[in-house]
Amino acid sequence: LELALPTRRVLLQEKGRVPLGLKTKRQKRIVVTGGAGFVGSHLVDRLMERGDSVIVVDNFFTGRKENVLHHMGNPNFELIRHDVVEPILLEVDQIYHLACPASPVHYKFNPTNVVGTLNMLGLAKRVGARFLLTSTSEVYGDPLQHPQAETYWGNVNPIGVRSCYDEGKRTAETLTMDYHRGTGIEVRIARIFNTYGPRMCLDDGRVVSNFVAQALRKVPLTVYGDGKQTRSFQYVSDLVDGLMRLMEGEHIGPFNLGNPGEFTMLELAQVVQETIDPNAKIEFRPNTEDDPHKRKPDISKAKELLGWQPTVSLREGLPLMVNDFRLRLLTDSKTIGD
Ligand code: NAD
Ligand code: UDP
Ligand code: UDP
Repeated sequence: LELALPTRRVLLQEKGRVPLGLKTKRQKRIVVTGGAGFVGSHLVDRLMERGDSVIVVDNFFTGRKENVLHHMGNPNFELIRHDVVEPILLEVDQIYHLACPASPVHYKFNPTNVVGTLNMLGLAKRVGARFLLTSTSEVYGDPLQHPQAETYWGNVNPIGVRSCYDEGKRTAETLTMDYHRGTGIEVRIARIFNTYGPRMCLDDGRVVSNFVAQALRKVPLTVYGDGKQTRSFQYVSDLVDGLMRLMEGEHIGPFNLGNPGEFTMLELAQVVQETIDPNAKIEFRPNTEDDPHKRKPDISKAKELLGWQPTVSLREGLPLMVNDFRLRLLTDSKTIGD
């Protein structure tokens, strides 16, 4: 039987004064902000599998209770509805900070990146927890270096429509490093490149979820601009593996976590056609402002220092996401029909 060990008991344990009857194996208590979201819920699955005690803090802005429903009732799992823009008191060993509206459709006008990150850093400082920030490849902006290495400082428009996201994450990185230098807390920074997989929001506007949902609904795939812009698509299990290695490892980062396979949006549309419906139509739409022309991670640093690299190709990962979307669209249409 695994017992949840509150931080105070763990301290006693480390000092060799473990109360009788408690297991000596160290179980971590971990908070995952944004844990009811797409990436967060997959991370929670892995942490629960490992036997850790997991607290999810989420305001369900883009996340869903369904994503973590299978853990309800497990004594190692807690779900707290809370907006991280407000302070919160918890006793934890590690903080995976993912809470953030991540899609262009949702992130406008939202202070989560700055205020939410500050609160979680304050929490880390108070309880001496290790803090991991999920930053983004967007910190490179419309990059003038290709592929992007962590040493590149980026090319970001500070006053554009995407700024609250990319500048918000850049500020979050700055705060993270300032707290590390100023208070000595242990921090980790991941720069995540475009990630896809089961449980992605159906209508959050990101390209892979858009194309897959459109092909399944038998409406044309919307390619923005000329479709020659590129992105690199990472399957979610590879990302979760990278995040956990980063948290458990000795290096602060920043680390690029992404799949270096690079596709134009037209090529992505073609893979979706091959996977779902060869007759799916393509429709061109005007592109959004400040859309980065290309993006591809240089992952040499993560390979060398974390021993990490992605293992799932787009052609392998996409069908796994399609199965999940197919089921959810079916359930949705049934609910609407009822
Ligand atoms: P998601 O939208 O599925 O998950 C974000 C979660 O945060 C949701 O559950 C949402 O309800 C929650 N949330 C948002 N604002 C909150 C707030 N103020 N308080 C509490 N909870 C809040 O997105 P995701 O793709 O899982 O992204 C997770 C993290 O990874 C984000 O920080 C995102 O910026 C980063 N990231 C993701 C990608 C990607 O391609 N998926 C790429 C780069 C970076
Ligand atoms: N904070 C929090 N939980 C904690 C500790 C701090 O939410 O357990 C918040 C706190 O309310 C503040 C932020 O984190 O808004 C930064 O905290 P810190 O102690 O670093 O700053 P200070 O309060 O000294 O300005
Ligand atoms: N895009 C597209 N069709 C869509 C949604 C997005 O062609 O229906 C394009 C978008 O213009 C961008 C790329 O796909 O060039 C990736 O967009 P996404 O919002 O998924 O991620 P990000 O821009 O944050 O990398």
